[in-house]
Amino acid sequence: MTLIRGRFAPSPSGPLHFGSLTAALGSWLTARQAGGEWLLRIEDIDPPREKPGAADAILRTLEASGLHWDGAVLYQSRRQAAYLEALEKLVDKRLAYPCACSRKEVAQSARRGAEGPIYAGRCRNGIGNPDKPPAVRLRVEDEAIGFEDRVVGWYQQNLAVEIGDFVIRRADGLFAYQLAVVVDDAFQGINQVVRGADLLSSTPRQILLQNRLGLPRPAYVHLPLALDRKGRKLSKSDQARPLDDQAPLPSLLTAWAFLGQHPPEAPPGSTEEFLAWAIKAWDLSRVAASAAPAK
Ligand code: GLU
Repeated sequence: MTLIRGRFAPSPSGPLHFGSLTAALGSWLTARQAGGEWLLRIEDIDPPREKPGAADAILRTLEASGLHWDGAVLYQSRRQAAYLEALEKLVDKRLAYPCACSRKEVAQSARRGAEGPIYAGRCRNGIGNPDKPPAVRLRVEDEAIGFEDRVVGWYQQNLAVEIGDFVIRRADGLFAYQLAVVVDDAFQGINQVVRGADLLSSTPRQILLQNRLGLPRPAYVHLPLALDRKGRKLSKSDQARPLDDQAPLPSLLTAWAFLGQHPPEAPPGSTEEFLAWAIKAWDLSRVAASAAPAK
């Protein structure tokens, strides 16, 4: 039997909030119930969006909540060489290409897609403006890319119609999330990705990248998103209320209920007691699929 290896991969744009705790709990339980490992990766590849101290605060909250991880934490800020190698492989095979179009140029010539303008492909056959430092885009095809999600069911996208050739390295030199996540999931041997439904619409792009790079595809499970009172996704950078590291149990119980699980018969005496019970009681089939807003 294959050892299940799950992961939690927060961006340090702020402390953990209820929404990210819910994703962490669902991911941890799915891995632990299968007797699997659960790895932690800090996705610190976008310094302008990071908050000083947030990565450490996330680690502390996970520890306080009893969501212990296996092995050393992987920091994406130390993985630039691996991303560059993957990028060069794609460019060498002409699967990706430099693009020097400005945001304005992209917007002017584009159709609107699921997540913004669909790039019209001006630099597909050669860069238009050689003086400007280019971004790098992955070429997409006119074909459906789909997968079976244990919560959402079958999900597919035609990337040419809905997304367009997408950026894998920005013009400012920063690698895009889509590339880094695929390189690192493979590097860490992740075969089960359980995360929030805001990333559902990123998954076909990640599958295409895996195919192009010859990397294995993990199983994907997307959990419903906790929304604020106005129906918006809670976000770390909006300073959604941080969790209380001194009293993690109430938030864990709320996250458990949010994931559609039966409450424990008697109130658990401690976080450890709750989690030990929850590993056995966790039932992914009770998690209701929610409409997935685009990332
Ligand atoms: N770093 C991403 C975030 O915090 C999550 C990445 C993933 O789970 O694939 O939204």
